[in-house]
Amino acid sequence: MKFIATSLVIPVYNEQANLEELVRRCIAVCDAQGDSYEIILVDDGSRDRSREILRELAAKHSNNLVVVLLNRNYGQHPAVMAGLAQSRGNVVVTLDADLQNPPEEIPKLLAAVADGCDVVGSVRMQRKDSFFRRMPSRILNAIVRKTTGVMMTDYGCMLRAYRRNIVDAILQCPERSTFIPILANGFSAKSTEVHVEHAERVNDDSKYSVWKLINLQFDLLTSMTAFPLRLLSIVGVILSVVGFSAGIFLAVMRLIQGPGWAAEGVFTIFAGLFIFTGFQLFGLGLVGEYLSRVYDDVRGRPRYFVEEILNLDGDPGSVPEKAVINIAKTGENKS
Ligand code: UDP
Ligand code: MG
Repeated sequence: MKFIATSLVIPVYNEQANLEELVRRCIAVCDAQGDSYEIILVDDGSRDRSREILRELAAKHSNNLVVVLLNRNYGQHPAVMAGLAQSRGNVVVTLDADLQNPPEEIPKLLAAVADGCDVVGSVRMQRKDSFFRRMPSRILNAIVRKTTGVMMTDYGCMLRAYRRNIVDAILQCPERSTFIPILANGFSAKSTEVHVEHAERVNDDSKYSVWKLINLQFDLLTSMTAFPLRLLSIVGVILSVVGFSAGIFLAVMRLIQGPGWAAEGVFTIFAGLFIFTGFQLFGLGLVGEYLSRVYDDVRGRPRYFVEEILNLDGDPGSVPEKAVINIAKTGENKS
């Protein structure tokens, strides 16, 4: 198989106005880089002329351009997955087709990979999106940072570079709701971020409606943490404790002050209510804990990836069977 240094993976959905310029600029950047490359354009079921344009472009640049046509619209991340599955490069760079991520920034990412990073993210320096497109992203970025503890400033920016082993790891995750940057970070040993320009969307609007965006945020949240489920238990316990304390307080006060105190026992009802609501929430959270484990197993993500095994040819008795299986896999990937 031909060695390819860099693959670009670009999802396309109704981008007829941008495609030609996109391909022209990407080719210019890659040519200047001097290494072998391929540009993989994945059409995510576009309804405009994107498909025809892609066919023409594929015929014109048959050396470097790979076009994958999906039969209908599946969404940005599934489209990127389809591109990753097709990619052969040692390093894979993803970017958007709308030219908001300037292809001219790609060398910066490649330089960071050459410095030894597995995953290189990017931060949009001056994000040129409308306020209503920016706000949800900002809130989301903050939540992600808090809950995962992974310091990535800008999860939404898809101009990213991944080393081959990370791409292979991502491809081994069969789950349907994916958020690729999070998945990649989960497997990366060393990641960094570079600052990139962000251009205004010149031709037509964002392809994300509010609902699609909300859906994506939930994909992101559920793909990395089961904390919302645990939150139920925590709230439940707090409510129960409050209920118990109130109950004890009321009982003591009643003994001291007599039955007329606290509106003839109305508050006692509240204390009981708190306790039971708390129990219910706690129970629900407990079910959630099981659910999150079932979810983890159903997703079937690989537990770990072996990078290398030393002395594999030594005494075979001393090599755990699992390790042998894994090295076979990584060996396959490298070829
Ligand atoms: N996209 C896609 N499928 C979709 C929606 C978007 O492949 O259902 C592509 C789109 O063509 C673009 C990228 O995903 O290349 C990002 O989309 P967009 O620029 O609309 O998102 P935003 O910049 O608002 O985050
Ligand atoms: Mg965009």
